[in-house]
Amino acid sequence: MPESQGAPLRVAIVGAGPSGFYAAEALLKSGRDVRVDMLERLPAPFGLVRFGVAPDHPKLKEAIAVYDRIARSPGFRFYGNVTVGRDVPIEALAQAYHAVIFASGAESDRRLGVPGEDLPGSYTATEFVGWYNGHPDYRDRTFDLSQEVAVIVGQGNVAADVCRILAKTVDELRHTDITEHALEALAASRVREIHVVGRRGPAQAKFTAKELRELGDLEDADVIVDPAELALNPESLAEFEERRGAAAKKNVEILRDFAARPDRGRRRHIVFRFLLSPVEVVGQDRVEGVVFERNRLSGPPFEQSARGTGDRVELPAGLVFRSIGYKGTAMAGVPFDARQGVFPTRDARIIDAAGAIVPGLYACGWIKRGPTGIIGTNKPCSVATVASLLADVPADAPPKPGAEAIPALAGSDGRRVVSYDDWIAIDQAEIGRGAPKGKPREKFTSVDEMLDLLGVSRR
Ligand code: NAP
Repeated sequence: MPESQGAPLRVAIVGAGPSGFYAAEALLKSGRDVRVDMLERLPAPFGLVRFGVAPDHPKLKEAIAVYDRIARSPGFRFYGNVTVGRDVPIEALAQAYHAVIFASGAESDRRLGVPGEDLPGSYTATEFVGWYNGHPDYRDRTFDLSQEVAVIVGQGNVAADVCRILAKTVDELRHTDITEHALEALAASRVREIHVVGRRGPAQAKFTAKELRELGDLEDADVIVDPAELALNPESLAEFEERRGAAAKKNVEILRDFAARPDRGRRRHIVFRFLLSPVEVVGQDRVEGVVFERNRLSGPPFEQSARGTGDRVELPAGLVFRSIGYKGTAMAGVPFDARQGVFPTRDARIIDAAGAIVPGLYACGWIKRGPTGIIGTNKPCSVATVASLLADVPADAPPKPGAEAIPALAGSDGRRVVSYDDWIAIDQAEIGRGAPKGKPREKFTSVDEMLDLLGVSRR
């Protein structure tokens, strides 16, 4: 191997999503003799690309081909079905490797913090997305799609995904990798009206233009915007004059186009609403509506926040999806910033509450910077993390044993670790199950199904 002198640099990466794979790639291309072991809680790799990206966005899943190439590189090993912090203590990882990179993403949701948030019929986008994408944690969730009116709180791309899946016809979804259970439930859906509600104005909606435009191109759904709701304050108009306001300007143009469209009497309606903050989800035993407070914008351009006016409006609805962003979760033995939902870092090095660097621990992706950006944003983020790591570990650092020193990874505790070859077998089986239905794959949605396929004990 080039430039290497002594023992290989051994790095454990926790989490097999995009940021983990980009970190692995940066390490393997670094010119040092590196061994990367990637540990993943589920038997299936690819994190948010497999379980987050919407089934009707197959282009975004093409990133998997890149990750697959990385996984097949010499020096890379995959350890699926292993939960770090439970099966493998952090201290054991830190001792067995020169460095540990946490790439564990943002697995939980931010909460609205309003009464009624947890009434039956009120769901998080995470649950719904995980359900239609076959995430084992969410496969058994049920959603009452017998309701006619749904409210989606939040105006980011996840809200757009949830809206599209609710608004599309089954024929528009049939040949995607959406799970069979979701397709069946959506086929029986009675949802007719979907309100996508933002707490700020149309110029502050977080959709990207492509995702917003797509909502106006669905087979059997009309988009509805009240032109009066597109009136802009001077600060928002000032934002359009600057380069960083270009995306917002585009969104407003798209919304104006939507507002000018006639109601074509399609089966479903997508209604965009602005300047409304939910203050209560109401209902006796289940969701019957959402009470919103009307907002006005306050603050200078690009720093405008929503301020309540005291005016309230109630929107009758049987379903609520909260799509207001994600949060990382804590891991025993790693410092955690509970407010931001991230592992606190300085130049990607994890720091403790006193601001001191915890030697050997690094972070990348959403657990480092919070849930922002598209898949590709993770690449420079992970490259920066690896640069810090390489600067810290000298080429002549004493050898480390790696996975062989950890019972759960070495297989000496009887646990069934899923290797990358095992994953390839699961992948092939999924593709085979999808073929007769004209789908790219039919996912296995439980860990047991995947382990059964491998013909081994489930431990
Ligand atoms: P997001 O883009 O941050 O959007 C969150 C939305 O929730 C915003 O409209 C935000 O409004 C609103 N919100 C936050 N707190 C709220 C509260 N207390 N009450 C009411 N509304 C509240 O997050 P996301 O949609 O979860 O997406 C996460 C990231 O993944 C984004 O970077 C997104 O672009 C990316 N993503 C990309 C794709 C794609 O490329 N196709 C698909 C899915 C996700 P404020 O703006 O006022 O805070």
